Amino acid sequence: MSELKLVFEEPKQRKKAPEHLADLTKEERRAKAESLGLPAFRANQISTHYFTHYNDDPDSWTDIPAALRPVVAEHFLPKLITLVRSITCDNGKTRKDLWRLHDGVLVESVLMRYSDRTTVCISSQAGCGMNCPFCATGQAGLTRNLTAGEITAQLVASARACATGELPGGPTRLSNVVFMGMGEPLANYNAVMRTVRNIVTPQPDGLGIGARSVTVSTVGLVTGIEKLTEEDLQVTLAVSLHTPDDELRDTLVPINSRWKVKEVLAAADKYAEKTGRRYSIEYALIRDINDQQWRADLLGRLLKNRHAHVNLIPLNPTPGSKWTASRKEDERTFVKTLENYGVPVTVRDTRGREIDGACGQLAAAEIKNS
Ligand code: SAH
Repeated sequence: MSELKLVFEEPKQRKKAPEHLADLTKEERRAKAESLGLPAFRANQISTHYFTHYNDDPDSWTDIPAALRPVVAEHFLPKLITLVRSITCDNGKTRKDLWRLHDGVLVESVLMRYSDRTTVCISSQAGCGMNCPFCATGQAGLTRNLTAGEITAQLVASARACATGELPGGPTRLSNVVFMGMGEPLANYNAVMRTVRNIVTPQPDGLGIGARSVTVSTVGLVTGIEKLTEEDLQVTLAVSLHTPDDELRDTLVPINSRWKVKEVLAAADKYAEKTGRRYSIEYALIRDINDQQWRADLLGRLLKNRHAHVNLIPLNPTPGSKWTASRKEDERTFVKTLENYGVPVTVRDTRGREIDGACGQLAAAEIKNS
């Protein structure tokens, strides 16, 4: 009971980030322009600069009269994120950016270039309230929700880095987005959905990335999955299951004490039914904790007739934790066992491991040192 209260407790009240173009719908952007005494079409020009040219510096916008640019900058494009530092690995093809928000809070995003796509992993909250014991972000608790403007700013910065050829291999297009950085996206539902609309809306009003190339990953907030099902969007749903049995899941993913494995899968099934999209089951393989063959068997039986795909993630050990990744032979047995049930399974590559990719460790290290 008290544990649940903690999980859902509102983050401390702080000064909200200033309103940004990306917090608004197309109609709201136009209405805001008019309320500032600007013709509505200025909102379209601003959107084009931001979402098509990834340009957030109104001083360089020659189609807007110089006298108006400071007004536009203040009301539509306040600076929401400032780069603290970037670190790269995989010969520069993986880059992790650490961002400082207007109130000093730190979040991170990770860009990964592959031969056929470039994916960005973004944060939807500073910290996380879900408290999963193997996740670095979970250890520090939730600081606050990000606004749609703050989440979208990570995307626009990444799209710009791709377009200007900052990653080795020359200019490219940002093609995929995963909500797998810091935070629980469905616990910040409205800002995340506003961001998803910014991603999938065609340019110039959004980034024009196909919904199927967007993955929303959740611990399994059933009410959130149900709401997402009603959105009429084709985004990929990923459920962080990590074990098929409630007993262990109560520990690994504490929100399981509220929604059990069966309820989470039932909600995901409905999502698959409505959208026609296969969902992903995320499963961090932790040595001798959740990687036994009997658990693979149980998982196989649970998923064999479902529209699901299993993503096995070798655990990225967090500092101070006694847990580590599975032995390779146990990983292989796990994969084979699932395949015997006809369940599609892949082992996720460990991109960015040396730079603590996707586990909140960079932000954690920065906070510790500051
Ligand atoms: N809150 C969302 C997004 C979190 S991060 C969710 O839980 O789905 C995306 C994935 O990385 C989740 O499946 C999460 O469980 C996993 N993850 C977190 N810490 C990890 C670690 N140390 N090693 C491997 N995977 C981890």
